[in-house]
Amino acid sequence: MLSATQTVASLENTTKRYKNGVTAVDHLSLHLSSGQVIALLGPNGAGKSTAVKLMMGLSAPTSGTVSVFGSDPRNPHTRLRTGVMLQVGRAPEMLRVREHINIFRGYYSNPMPYEDLMKAAALEGLEDRFFGQLSGGQKQRVLFAIALAGDPDLVFLDEPTVGLDIESRRAIWAEIRALAARGKTVLLTTHYLEEADALAHRIIVMNKGRVICAGTPAEVKSMGAGYPSATANGFKIVRCATTLTADHLQAMPGVLAVSTTGHLTEITTEQPEAALREMLVLDRSLSALEVECPALEDAFLTLTAEN
Ligand code: ADP
Ligand code: MG
Repeated sequence: MLSATQTVASLENTTKRYKNGVTAVDHLSLHLSSGQVIALLGPNGAGKSTAVKLMMGLSAPTSGTVSVFGSDPRNPHTRLRTGVMLQVGRAPEMLRVREHINIFRGYYSNPMPYEDLMKAAALEGLEDRFFGQLSGGQKQRVLFAIALAGDPDLVFLDEPTVGLDIESRRAIWAEIRALAARGKTVLLTTHYLEEADALAHRIIVMNKGRVICAGTPAEVKSMGAGYPSATANGFKIVRCATTLTADHLQAMPGVLAVSTTGHLTEITTEQPEAALREMLVLDRSLSALEVECPALEDAFLTLTAEN
């Protein structure tokens, strides 16, 4: 097993300019640490898939360095330790699910056990179906199983849960968490911000080929909301009907902002428990209480709009 702080893959000051003149990745530096799920977020065209392809050795950088397990990503030993699920993944239609999985298992000396793969990708019961006869979501799950076939130390998942129903998505989330818990590294790109929030130890927000924000989900939300001081613990939003004045609330522990809409007051605070304890003592009539976690979506929209 890999140690917790080891860098598994990195881009250093890497630029990728395609032949059509598009600079997809622009002096980008990224580090992936072992045992972590890292979510790469950004609007369409931000350069996420290009960054993944660079780390997979499918695309050569125009300048800068790409390193995976301390060597070139095209090194065969490196490739055997990585698994991938690409956005436009395809597989032969006339092979059965079982055959696909076993062909890929056959490429590796220590593949994942067949039964474990079926379970991980929620494919039980579909083993004898032809790939071509599967629904879009079922095909996605086969591609997920193929990515894990070699029991890789590093897994690239480009939009792995697109088109999946909630049950399959949750099954794949559980598997991604289990991979990280076993010391594996997962780089995930996704359009589902709640997926990044639920899974990622670290979020990297990209726009126009560059990193515009990186950190834990709580840190990214704090930075997106314009509260960089709250980055360590994040913040929460307390909403209630109260007779306490905005000035009074503003002076309470960890309060970052206070606003009022109709009869409801909204208090943004780094220390929701401390603020609430005081508020409940001072205002016995306090009602309609709600405590909300900020949404990653709000941070994402603010961060990508600024750029
Ligand atoms: P994302 O995955 O974040 O949507 P991509 O990495 O796919 O972004 O694309 C980044 C930019 O590079 C886009 O402007 C896209 O049109 C362009 N691009 C991607 N792949 C190629 C390619 N093979 N040839 C030319 N341009 C490309
Ligand atoms: Mg993409």
